[in-house]
Amino acid sequence: MSRFFSRNFAGLTPYTPGEQPQDKKYVKLNTNESPFPPSARAQAMAAKAAAGLQLYPDPTCRVLRERLGALYGLTADEVIVTNGSDEVLSFAFMAFCDNGVIFPDITYGFYRVFAELYRIPFEEIPLKEDFTIDIEDYKGRKETVFIANPNAPTGIPLTVAEIEAIVRSNPHRMVVVDEAYVDFGGESCAPLIAKYDNLLVTGTFSKSRSMAGARLGFGLACPALIQDLETLRYSTNPYNINRLTMAAGLGQLVDEEETRRNCRAIIQNRQYTITVLSEMGFDVLPSAANFVFAKHPAIGGKDLYLQLKEKGILVRHFDKERLKEYNRITVGSREQMDALLTTIKEILEE
Ligand code: PMP
Repeated sequence: MSRFFSRNFAGLTPYTPGEQPQDKKYVKLNTNESPFPPSARAQAMAAKAAAGLQLYPDPTCRVLRERLGALYGLTADEVIVTNGSDEVLSFAFMAFCDNGVIFPDITYGFYRVFAELYRIPFEEIPLKEDFTIDIEDYKGRKETVFIANPNAPTGIPLTVAEIEAIVRSNPHRMVVVDEAYVDFGGESCAPLIAKYDNLLVTGTFSKSRSMAGARLGFGLACPALIQDLETLRYSTNPYNINRLTMAAGLGQLVDEEETRRNCRAIIQNRQYTITVLSEMGFDVLPSAANFVFAKHPAIGGKDLYLQLKEKGILVRHFDKERLKEYNRITVGSREQMDALLTTIKEILEE
């Protein structure tokens, strides 16, 4: 830390992203990226947009918001687009948390970082023994609720009816549903937006839409909430979506059928992975996401992570007490999963 760093931030523990090694090529199953490239149209449109990079992008992102809205039965004024969904989550913490915030003790690690960054009092609500969320814990509370659905790193989903019960239980506070992984078997809460003015749904192009490298996320909510988020966007970075990303996003949305097909492949590969891991003696949580969370009675989580890394396969390990026996494994292509499963088999036999 330099002697000039603001005392406001000196105590901050920043978010630790998953490893993005640049040295050697791994079978990369640690940050829930898609094994599929963006659609050919998305790539071509981004390449074409490169010729206009001397100009700023459209700060209103009007066309992208219209197309995205149409996908969810919403209008452009019910959509905001952001630099990854991390940015819309960041805005939501700034915008809607004057009464504090609650989220599960095991969830996306960035929620805690945002709460600390913006000095918002927060409470982490323990998951049940089986790693599920008890929705009763979130009903009728005055604090803003953040729930990842499906949750991470467990992959376990809530139903729309369960989330609606939380939203309905206190119409005077906000509920934010982070749907980063919803396309792999969860149910989107977007249809509830017409009914509730205290609900923000966030989503991303990073997972099901194969665009993690482009950084494109979005928020869906009633127009008044979107306006609040836009106030913060224009107060921080009005050109948050660059021309290449905007073009790629528009192209990818035209190819929504390809996205659906890719999701179906991931769901199949997930089922295959769960079956083989279970046969090998792993305890695997019931995932509705593009990753599985698994532990084995004969090998510690960290040990397995390190041995896999040594053999060129990268998964995500968390040191937190209740998580440390597990690893979070991204579901990739069938070939990637076979490489993982064969290697795990070798490690267990050694
Ligand atoms: N929410 C959850 C639950 C995530 O796991 C991630 C990915 N790290 C994000 C949001 C943010 O993803 P992105 O900024 O790439 O949209």
